[in-house]
Amino acid sequence: MSDSNYRLERLKPILACPACQGNLLYTLDTATCQLCQAAYSIQHGKIYFVSVPERVDELDKLKGLLKKWLGRYYYTIGRNVIAPTYPFNFRGKICQRLDPARQIVVDVGCGNHRMDENIITLDFFDYDAVDVVCDLGMLPFKSDSVDAFVSRSVLEHISDNSLVIQQFNRCTRPGGLGLHLIPFLFPFHASPHDFQRYTHKGQEALFKEWEVIEQTNPTGPVTLALVCLIEFLSILFSFGQEKIKASLSLIFCVLLFPLKFLDFPFVNRRSFFSLAPTLFIVVRKSGV
Ligand SMILES: [Zn+2]
Repeated sequence: MSDSNYRLERLKPILACPACQGNLLYTLDTATCQLCQAAYSIQHGKIYFVSVPERVDELDKLKGLLKKWLGRYYYTIGRNVIAPTYPFNFRGKICQRLDPARQIVVDVGCGNHRMDENIITLDFFDYDAVDVVCDLGMLPFKSDSVDAFVSRSVLEHISDNSLVIQQFNRCTRPGGLGLHLIPFLFPFHASPHDFQRYTHKGQEALFKEWEVIEQTNPTGPVTLALVCLIEFLSILFSFGQEKIKASLSLIFCVLLFPLKFLDFPFVNRRSFFSLAPTLFIVVRKSGV
């Protein structure tokens, strides 16, 4: 069985119709709701609760080219080395608290990136790396069924987060977790939209019905200075051309990325929450 088929088999007992919460009946290529008869397509181990076209924008095109050149080194080199943000081991944070091989961990808004073969990937867009294509405000899971939802730089891209948080509330099992990385002081980045930022207090308010068990700043003031400098220089020298801006941004990243390591003394320090480009929060749903 392929990995994607294996993940779908693990998911089947907890999937439900996103429209009416009805149970789903499966054939090889379709899941049909027993209540409202809605039919959802299954292709190559991937299940579609919405049908949306594959998304392409200038930055994605550039990333696609890089992936071709770099192959499997794209994520290790591209994402972790050249990125101007202090490195953060998100998968490591997840595995500290959860065992994705035994528990259902859902990466919401994963984009085209799979960080672990056992973590379920979910996105509104039909990227190769996605297991479940659905609307983030209508999650296709039974109530109290998921061990943890995790997200990385996703919640700022949703215009009305209260809907998504309600869905996390409904679908997470009592005592289950939420691990979320959300930008605070970070330049506007449409992907495809960008709506909000959260302070550490704003994060607490967002998850007000949850118990906060960890909160930290994985990036600090040096990262902040770097991302602002790179954005500023890219705007200045691209003269309004988005294509040129994306390429320039990449060039400045390659030139400047080593400076990010100077953030080492300032990350994971509460006193620097006020200058954090990103903040990470771990919350627990009450009622074990
Ligand atoms: Zn239904």
